Amino acid sequence: MPKFVPYDVQVIRQRFPILNRKVKGKDLVYFDNAATAQKPIEVIEALSHYYSTYNANIHRGLHTLADEATAAFEETRNAVKEFIGAAHVEEIIFTKGTTESINLIASSWGEAFLSKGDEIILSSLEHHANIVPWQMIAEKKGAVIKVIPMNDEGQMDMNGFHALLSEKTKMVAVVHASNALGIIHPVEEIIRAAHERGAAVLIDGAQSSVHLDIDVREMDCDFYVFSGHKVYGPTGTGIAYGKKQILESMPPFLGGGEMIKEVSFEKTTYNDLPFKFEAGTPNIADVIALRPALEFINQLGKFAIREHENALLIEITARLQQVEGVRIIGAVDHKVPVVSFVADGAHPQDLAYLLDNNGIAVRTGHHCAQPLMKRLGIVGTTRVSFAAYNTLQEVDAFMVALEKSLKMLR
Ligand code: PMP
Repeated sequence: MPKFVPYDVQVIRQRFPILNRKVKGKDLVYFDNAATAQKPIEVIEALSHYYSTYNANIHRGLHTLADEATAAFEETRNAVKEFIGAAHVEEIIFTKGTTESINLIASSWGEAFLSKGDEIILSSLEHHANIVPWQMIAEKKGAVIKVIPMNDEGQMDMNGFHALLSEKTKMVAVVHASNALGIIHPVEEIIRAAHERGAAVLIDGAQSSVHLDIDVREMDCDFYVFSGHKVYGPTGTGIAYGKKQILESMPPFLGGGEMIKEVSFEKTTYNDLPFKFEAGTPNIADVIALRPALEFINQLGKFAIREHENALLIEITARLQQVEGVRIIGAVDHKVPVVSFVADGAHPQDLAYLLDNNGIAVRTGHHCAQPLMKRLGIVGTTRVSFAAYNTLQEVDAFMVALEKSLKMLR
């Protein structure tokens, strides 16, 4: 049985050195967690420990340092497998982020499985990372992209989705939780319906992996992708999970060392999974330091983190709804802890600047989801996104700074 650890946000904050810093003379309030999360001390120390004691290239070396580095690297693969409930460790491919993971899958899976006239279904809420790679492969193979419509709140129109499905559908690639609005989409229904038509499904888990319990076997998605830096891990780490049978039938993405069994000018044979998709020297240090990040989440438990973050989300939502001229976009119940809003008479960029003067970091703009902004008829939003270490006092500080900033802008 895991040991019960009471949720003490002040104790948790002590594990994040950056939270002690000041910005513009004020205590930092970091509300841009959907862009990237801050790192606990264990992650920072793992990086330093690797470089100061066992830096070596992995998988090939026959010396102590190489063995230690290889073991640590592969331990993270195992930790990721557990984190998302994959069946096999070789289904976990390391990339440098969600973007590279989707490019890998779109390019390699698309090469093997797409033909002229085939259809790829995306949603109106996708991050550019889950649009552009599909456009690139669609253009190459003569495939067609169809878009799931949404309602004014930012929820996917499920009737619209079912109407798009046909025998031509080969791939449905959708975001689990929208980075721009925080809305959690009914991926289980999407996966079931797509599979009934024989289509594969990719779930963009960049925003869901840190907040929701992920079990890829239960979900039954064919691919699940996410970034290490959004789950309290280092930048430059990403995961492409794919069902073994499908990954085995896909050609490699990048060619080079590590991904081969034998190379000759006559014929090269490729390595087994997962190495077939990991050409060249990977991001060893950062992958190793991803493991303590996952351990941080596991120690607290996603349920406890969610309870804490949801309390912040409920509080800020209620308080924003009371501010004159502020409109929350996507104010629905089923959300990750993200709140996106527009304010009359205040351009999001000006607001971000004024909030920063108060030490508060938020994200503003189109959130790499320009088609969504166009659909909503807005230029952008101001987005607050919470993590395990945020507090109600920070919400208070934010609300005071917001009201002050709005007065200055209006
Ligand atoms: N998809 C979603 C939903 C995201 O939020 C992000 C990051 N903002 C990405 C994809 C791209 O992730 P990365 O930049 O880490 O590759």
